[in-house]
Amino acid sequence: MSSQPSSQPGPKPNSFAARDAAYHLHGYTNALKTEKEGGFVVVRGDGPFVYDENDKEYLDGLSGLWCAALGFGKEQRIIDAAVRQMENLPYYHTFSQKAPAVTVELAERLVELASLAAPMSKAYFCNSGSEANDTAIKMIWYFNNALGRPEKKKIIARVKGYHGVTVGSGSLTGLPLVHKDFDLPIKNVFHTDCPHYYRFGKAGESEEDFATRMAESLEALIQREGPDTIAAMFAEPVMGAGGVLTPPKTYWEKIQKVLKKHDILLVADEVICGFMRTGNQWGSQTFGMKPDIMTMAKQLSAAQMPIAAVLISQRVYEGLRDHSGKLGSWAHGITYSGHPVAAAVALETQKIYAERKILDHVRAISPVFLAELKSFADHPLVGEVRGVGLIGALELVKDKKTHESFDASLGVGPNLIRIAHDHGVILRPVADSICFCPPLICTEGQIREMFKRFRAALAETQEWLK
Ligand code: PLP
Repeated sequence: MSSQPSSQPGPKPNSFAARDAAYHLHGYTNALKTEKEGGFVVVRGDGPFVYDENDKEYLDGLSGLWCAALGFGKEQRIIDAAVRQMENLPYYHTFSQKAPAVTVELAERLVELASLAAPMSKAYFCNSGSEANDTAIKMIWYFNNALGRPEKKKIIARVKGYHGVTVGSGSLTGLPLVHKDFDLPIKNVFHTDCPHYYRFGKAGESEEDFATRMAESLEALIQREGPDTIAAMFAEPVMGAGGVLTPPKTYWEKIQKVLKKHDILLVADEVICGFMRTGNQWGSQTFGMKPDIMTMAKQLSAAQMPIAAVLISQRVYEGLRDHSGKLGSWAHGITYSGHPVAAAVALETQKIYAERKILDHVRAISPVFLAELKSFADHPLVGEVRGVGLIGALELVKDKKTHESFDASLGVGPNLIRIAHDHGVILRPVADSICFCPPLICTEGQIREMFKRFRAALAETQEWLK
């Protein structure tokens, strides 16, 4: 094997990259690396493309952070909606029975949309997916106190699940680095098995049998902890940041049966899957999930303004309502909850999705996307190909037959991503899984272009590994 592909050279003095390294602390970043190499600073966008300060073009195959559904170009209608709102009412809040009109409109729209998956009663707004999941945890605890069952508080999430980084949502996230030295998870959060059949299925075990084993393992965890102490399970329909892990056949049917038996609420984290990513409005629809609570963010506003929401069923709402009456207040609220400018942008985004028939487009383009992904199935470095709608991943392995992974210290996935970056395509590694989640508006040509650039990077990686 030749030496590792070299990292970026240091930034030019006074460039944005150098100033970024000097003044800006990034999320999910090795800060030492930023100091040495400078940041990657983006100055403009156009469709699925972004441009750096030297005007080099990159196709962002991850929609930024799984969110820029309409890409990175100018959307005049969204600009106009934001400006109109700023002219009319740039801010109002949602405490004490008050609300901006546009926030009410958005709540109505989301409750209506959610009914495609499961009947929901009310929307509560937040500013990020993390905050939405934190809020959902608090709602669940409050709900069970309202019902007079204070012991029913434990929450189950999954190994490799991703739900955010705040104290509550970061505890739900099942990735070791999100916990390590942050003193997480908090008590009462448990992680059940990761349903990744390719990695964790046993020899000779069918996908359906694997799903049964996952449900049995969940049941065993519930029995160990005591069914009367478990309040809810949080889960993404497709596990995104864990490496785009699509559920095995029959998984959701079996998991929901267990939850129902023990009166455990299901929270569908639709932060990535929501708004058409999996080929339906909701990931819950794609996989037959009937949640009691849905959290959403990202594509809610096509990422053009920070906004997130928690939608709750009538049953959960009634618990909150009656308890708030008893205590005098549902004493949870955020200054920018349902911010009118963000709500106006989200509402306009939803209108654009409907008028431009984005769902039809996703369904039309998904077969091209999935066929391109599958075209890598025979590649010697590719162990598993997985995907649905417009989200997918390729898992790179050392040995196709045994599924043996590369030594993590080689950094095969991250190095491939760096090479791909040089080839003008931005993707995301989760260990050695390469994730794809292009803007929903990509044309067939742009999807093919993304894979063409990636293919060149994969060929270079293969050379490096020789
Ligand atoms: N839930 C899921 C499924 C996510 O993928 C993310 C972020 O990637 C979050 C929650 C957290 O959202 P945010 O980064 O907006 O806090």
